[in-house]
Amino acid sequence: MKKLTILGSTGSIGTQALCTAEKNGWHITALAAGRNTELLEKQARKYKPDIVAMFDETAADELKIKLADTDIKVLSGEEGVTFAAEYDCDIVLNSIVGIAGLKPTLAAIDAGHTVALANKETLVTGGEIVNRRLKEKGVTLLPVDSEHSAIFQCLQGCADRREIRRLILTCSGGPFRGMGRDEVGRMTKADALRHPNWTMGPKITVDCSTLMNKGLEVIEAMRLYRLPLAQVSVMVHPQSIVHSMVEF
Ligand code: NDP
Repeated sequence: MKKLTILGSTGSIGTQALCTAEKNGWHITALAAGRNTELLEKQARKYKPDIVAMFDETAADELKIKLADTDIKVLSGEEGVTFAAEYDCDIVLNSIVGIAGLKPTLAAIDAGHTVALANKETLVTGGEIVNRRLKEKGVTLLPVDSEHSAIFQCLQGCADRREIRRLILTCSGGPFRGMGRDEVGRMTKADALRHPNWTMGPKITVDCSTLMNKGLEVIEAMRLYRLPLAQVSVMVHPQSIVHSMVEF
């Protein structure tokens, strides 16, 4: 039975990953989140991990009280989340949002765990450090971001990297596609949170509307596949059927 740790278990990726783990009969060893005590308590009772960690100290105190009748250890703060990343398991899924994901990624690599990475900010902010650390530790990193996962799958049969001409990331264009500057200027937060094709967490949804997300993904692809910018291009594909492609 595979042992899985999920960091960011209360979010969009985290909750979907828990369903997948359940369907596959995987054992959950640790869970971590920011401050959503209500959902983390439910997840802890259902999946019975050894430890749970909350970044927010006050929320962690609340969770300790809620889980007092169980054997589950409740940790807090950045240290607690890092400990969860290091804790005994086969795969760490990092689905924390933002730069808070970087240190736990490094901690999981240092502990020798395979890392399934959704947290794109890890590679955008610390890609070079992460790549160096992966090499030193001989650890595998599996991209979860769908565009990068598609490329990862396309590259499975590629023995000679010189055959890669370019990576093509697709982009739905988001809810503001086709609008002029003035029109975009009148859009509200609620408009930016209305993605035409996907339901995701709020930060990535807004980043999709502004196209910032595609910028982050280009950097992520360069770091993951060690290619220069000239070999990573973006294609607007509003139907979002193809997630990404490799031109050989
Ligand atoms: P959500 O906002 O839905 O979830 C974020 C998760 O991170 C929550 O569990 C949150 O906990 C937790 N969290 C926030 N801050 C901390 C912290 N300091 N320490 C520990 N946990 C923390 O985000 P998504 O699931 O949408 O996205 C997660 C990552 O995956 C992002 O980097 C995003 O870009 C990437 N991604 C997401 C996709 C998607 O389909 N959603 C697709 C591709 C990539 P709490 O709920 O308690 O605040």
